[in-house]
Amino acid sequence: MHDACLRCASTLGCQSAAYICSYECTFCDRCAGELVQRCPNCGGDLQRRPLRPAPSTDQEPAG
Ligand SMILES: [Zn+2]
Ligand SMILES: [Zn+2]
Repeated sequence: MHDACLRCASTLGCQSAAYICSYECTFCDRCAGELVQRCPNCGGDLQRRPLRPAPSTDQEPAG
């Protein structure tokens, strides 16, 4: 999992919209749009990366 766009090197946090290809090339939302959802490295389709839920630290442990 890359934490930065391979095209413009902008930081992609867990909460940032990002696109990823099957070879784990990662691009930001803006670059994915300019690339028309096609990875320039391997030619694969870019898929929207699911957002990872923020870790909840204030949750009481079960039991
Ligand atoms: Zn980018
Ligand atoms: Zn790729």
